[in-house]
Amino acid sequence: MAEVHGIIDTLINELCRLPGIGRRTAQKLTFFILNMPKSEALSIAGAIVGVKERAGFCKTCFNVTESELCSVCSDSSRDKTKICVVEEPGNIAVVERSRSFDGLYHVLLGALSPIDGITPDRLKINELLARVRENPVEEVIIATNPNTKGEMTAQYIAGLLRPLNITVSRIAYGLPMGGEIEFADEVTLGKSIEGRRRL
Ligand SMILES: [Zn+2]
Repeated sequence: MAEVHGIIDTLINELCRLPGIGRRTAQKLTFFILNMPKSEALSIAGAIVGVKERAGFCKTCFNVTESELCSVCSDSSRDKTKICVVEEPGNIAVVERSRSFDGLYHVLLGALSPIDGITPDRLKINELLARVRENPVEEVIIATNPNTKGEMTAQYIAGLLRPLNITVSRIAYGLPMGGEIEFADEVTLGKSIEGRRRL
């Protein structure tokens, strides 16, 4: 890659900043972009500029929004006594699609990972505590991911919420529909048995 210099290197370096994009992928994407019709490449660039100029995070729950409050927080029909805690704004759409929750959300914008420098102050945890203290919240459902980081985050938040005298619950881990128990790993299966509910 010695012949690749200047503006091309700049794009490769910029793409490397994105999560999950290593140098090889960044190079691949750069050459893909070089090969694209100009209009398509400009449309990608324009979309990036657009979200930075017109979108942001909801000041209450940190969902993505184009106004001060997101569509969930500004919907008066939502049950304000329940808050579902998720890691990323994208997780809200998944819970919404399940049609099993009509309360509000709180997005942490990540999960605890001390090894990567993601300590509690880097997440929206203090903002969650303030919301619970200042509003008539009765239940917090922690829907962080069922992996090591998500589990650590859930335990940490549950510990902080416990003294506040509200119900703190954790989503039950299900086996994927259409999957087979035989192919589930033991952590998933163990958690799904722990989280079993009465039929
Ligand atoms: Zn919101």
